[in-house]
Amino acid sequence: MRWSWKLGEVAGIGIFVHVTFLMLVGWVALSHWIVERSLAAAVGGAIFILALFGCVVLHELGHALTAKRYGVRTRDITLYPIGGMARLERIPEVPQQEALIALAGPAVNVVIAAGLWLALSAAGGVTPLAELDVTKGPFLERLLLVNLFLAGFNLIPAFPMDGGRVLRALLATRLSYVRATELAAGVGQAMALVFGFVGLFSNPFLVFIALFVWLGASSEAAMAQMRAAFSGLPVSRAMLTEFAALAPRDPLARAVELTLAGSQSDFPVLEDGVPVGVLSQADLLGGLSQRGPDAPVAAFMRGVPKAVAPGEMLDDVFARLQGEESRTFPVVSGGRLVGLLTLENLGEFLRIQAAMAAGRRPPALRAP
Ligand SMILES: [Zn+2]
Repeated sequence: MRWSWKLGEVAGIGIFVHVTFLMLVGWVALSHWIVERSLAAAVGGAIFILALFGCVVLHELGHALTAKRYGVRTRDITLYPIGGMARLERIPEVPQQEALIALAGPAVNVVIAAGLWLALSAAGGVTPLAELDVTKGPFLERLLLVNLFLAGFNLIPAFPMDGGRVLRALLATRLSYVRATELAAGVGQAMALVFGFVGLFSNPFLVFIALFVWLGASSEAAMAQMRAAFSGLPVSRAMLTEFAALAPRDPLARAVELTLAGSQSDFPVLEDGVPVGVLSQADLLGGLSQRGPDAPVAAFMRGVPKAVAPGEMLDDVFARLQGEESRTFPVVSGGRLVGLLTLENLGEFLRIQAAMAAGRRPPALRAP
């Protein structure tokens, strides 16, 4: 994940923080400064954010551990300002399971809020909910409010919030997965427009949230369409079969020649037909600037990324390759390289599929 830093690991799941989460820290610190003009208040704000941060991690672990119960692994957890994102390795086949995984996050915040409410009541009373304020009042009361906000906001039935997943799961019990996703994403984008419009006249932070919701909804819809286009097709249908390869002892100058002669940007490196690495354009440029064109390819190539078999289904492979650092994957059969699968070439394949599908539609239904 770009623009994020690793903080640690829980139950084998890496926990990352995204740069925009730090923008939230800045926003809260600023609100404290504007209201109180004191360093103590700013430090208090920072400690509060750490507590909030803990609650968001627990929220995400709620998703991840529920997913684990259904046999779905979580690749990593990244924290964004309006919640977090547990990147599940796949979406469970049964819609009800997806709904329960989505609901588990907000449920954790409800439990935390209820626990805080009980503790505060036992200790001598809580400020009525309507009078609570995130920027002032006792620490635990503010934390209670923030947990209610996290639960409520994430239950909005729009992507990329958890509520959007619940909505899709409900729709998917009656509609196809792609149609359900499109509808849920449409609700998300409509909601983003409302947020953005209201935000323009009230709170700029809302405009920022609107943007986040809009982008999340679009990428979710695109992803579902892609998965549908790929389903039921083997890798061999979409892989590149004509490509240039390098040997580990080749000089970088050879890669330059091949790059200029064709449209290929990443090259597999083969030793007797067996892939031993990949030289990407970034590796090539880095190598040229460090050691010049005579340096051997072996010094700058990276290890072979996960290999793919020609008979594997494209939708499975696509789900598996999401988030991998490499953009080019060797297709290997019997230990030998038989093709290359690149993200560009998958995109091309998708456009061709879409054009062919449009061609098959009866003319009356075609868009003008
Ligand atoms: Zn969540």
